[in-house]
Amino acid sequence: MAVIRTAIPNKGRLAPDASELLRAIGLRIPDANDRKLLVDSGKGRYQVLFASPWDIPRYVESGAADVGITGLDILEEAGNGVERLLPLNFGFCKLCLAAPEAATVLSSKEIPGGATIATQFPNLVRSYFRRLGTDVRIVEVRGAAELTPNIGAADFVADLVETGSTLRMNHLRILDVILESRAVLVASPASLEEKGSEIRELVSAIESVVEAESRRYLMANVPVDRLPQVRGFLPGITAPTIMNLIGRQDMVAMHVVVKEDEVNGVIALLKDAGATGILVVPIERMVV
Ligand code: AMP
Repeated sequence: MAVIRTAIPNKGRLAPDASELLRAIGLRIPDANDRKLLVDSGKGRYQVLFASPWDIPRYVESGAADVGITGLDILEEAGNGVERLLPLNFGFCKLCLAAPEAATVLSSKEIPGGATIATQFPNLVRSYFRRLGTDVRIVEVRGAAELTPNIGAADFVADLVETGSTLRMNHLRILDVILESRAVLVASPASLEEKGSEIRELVSAIESVVEAESRRYLMANVPVDRLPQVRGFLPGITAPTIMNLIGRQDMVAMHVVVKEDEVNGVIALLKDAGATGILVVPIERMVV
């Protein structure tokens, strides 16, 4: 059986969630402080490679890793040769174009030719301004781009933003969103040809965890005569499961999968329908 090597970020924002995701499918991931760069994570079948998120597209493209997890922003900037398999539920951020608060421009269209833009994403920013028809100069930085207007190193910045607080702290205001990003699972085209079935097995395990993350398993005792009403707002995956309660003819136990963001609303509707003993529990994996 072929060994599958998965590359995940060794540090930074994506690292904890990527490790957690692989742990959720049963891989052994050592704690961050006693980590080697390459570890055997499961009975000789799985290896995990810890690497910079910027190096992961290259490792996956060359087949040095079979699959990998990195940011969509990084893939769009420098990851053409990999197969994108699955968007993941973490690493949400936006690549934003921002101006100093004191600048007079109100939109990116007003940025004059020759302006300087500091960024870690020269390709994305260049094509953004090419679409606008403005000839700007890129100042490539490795990080902390938000400092550059304050020290006179650039006129504007294009940087990753999650809440916007770092931009506000540096007296910058967003002009436009260049890209919405999140973590993505990618695979090497060569590995997909060679070890397709093993990779599909790993991907479907990850997919089942991703699916389960946004759902909850809900149980409740429901009056029998209210079941038609409850059925109306609880579609479930196929349909809710109904089970008898010992010694009760008027109530049944109902089990159903609901979307996490609908749980509170569903509980309110169930209470209106006379439901009791409502329990909500997490789901480890879900295969639809
Ligand atoms: P970093 O850990 O800051 O080197 O960023 C690595 C990757 O994490 C980025 O390329 C993004 O895909 C992602 N990321 C998620 N949230 C943020 C954020 N608030 N700032 C920067 N990067 C983020």
